[in-house]
Amino acid sequence: MFTRRNFLKTSALVTAGSLINPTSMFSQKNSVVAPGGSERMQLSFHDFEAQLRHPFAVSGYTRTTTPIVLTEIKYGGFTGYGEAAMPPYLGESQASVIAFLQRVNLNQFSNPFELEDILAYVDSITINNTAAKASVDIALHDLVGKLIGKPWHALWGYNATKVPVTTFTIGMGTEKEVREKTLETAPFKVLKIKLGMDEATDKKLINTVRSVTDKPIRVDANQGWKDKHYALKMIEWLSDKNVEFVEQPMPKHNLDDMAWLTEQSPLLTIADESCQRLEDITRLKGVFNGINIKLMKCTGMREANKMITLARACDLKLMVGCMTETSCAISAAAQFSPQMDYADLDGNLLISNDQFSGVKLVDGRIVLNNEPGIGVRKL
Ligand code: MG
Repeated sequence: MFTRRNFLKTSALVTAGSLINPTSMFSQKNSVVAPGGSERMQLSFHDFEAQLRHPFAVSGYTRTTTPIVLTEIKYGGFTGYGEAAMPPYLGESQASVIAFLQRVNLNQFSNPFELEDILAYVDSITINNTAAKASVDIALHDLVGKLIGKPWHALWGYNATKVPVTTFTIGMGTEKEVREKTLETAPFKVLKIKLGMDEATDKKLINTVRSVTDKPIRVDANQGWKDKHYALKMIEWLSDKNVEFVEQPMPKHNLDDMAWLTEQSPLLTIADESCQRLEDITRLKGVFNGINIKLMKCTGMREANKMITLARACDLKLMVGCMTETSCAISAAAQFSPQMDYADLDGNLLISNDQFSGVKLVDGRIVLNNEPGIGVRKL
């Protein structure tokens, strides 16, 4: 019987057959035990369609499902779980994620504790594929945490009681739909509203929500305001409506206008589309007031944690966001949420066929558990 205790004492010898999951759609074909006899990590993955509780409408399209690929890395009698969630607008698909994962060869590494080397290698395979990379990163972090027997919020030294409140997103819809959705958000202390349509539509949406509740609102314009003077006019209109900040008001590459807007703006500005990875952060100092970190944009927990350090050094506020994803990726992102000023981790609440149980929400606040790794169990 393989226990965590004897794993930590000795290196393991596990037979290949016992580690192969017959239900996996894909797994690495290389042997699980290397010729020298030492065990190797085994990566497997399969596609999964997340069903949305309500059709999700943002500027341009509506959808009822989200394509996902779920990953597992087995080693030492433990299984780490990971996930890639691919909203269509980001350019990844189940096919591209699976094609990427088929190129990942973990057999060249002797154990999962070589996490830095492993994930630098995974990142080097292609330029993009950030969600595919995140699915390996999350599974590896989950595995390493389980082998050590600690959750990542504890391994990083973060205070689990300091998690911020999380927002719940009100999508677009008719006045009646918006009013009903707003009333359904009772446990949430802060709402997120997607703007970026024409002026009348944007103002009507805010006014409709405000006719039902005076809770604080965080606005996400999703690059929708193309002109800096118009953007400033909208932000000034929002500034006496109990709005905390505006996320990505202008197109992502328009940093000169964005710096002007942040300078003039009575509300804080947060970069989402303008800030994908670690390398983006230094050029955003003075351009935005903060950044939105998402695992699927930045390749996972390893880079997210580096982004926290760099963004703080650049005096930027920190927000964690998500895609529509299962409790696997949400719980992974929640591990560093104690370091965040703002959280937007409602993605698992939007789907009806979650495959995991993990972090819970109490009074609109994320509650981290003490389960090792990313703190999830497969349902
Ligand atoms: Mg956003």
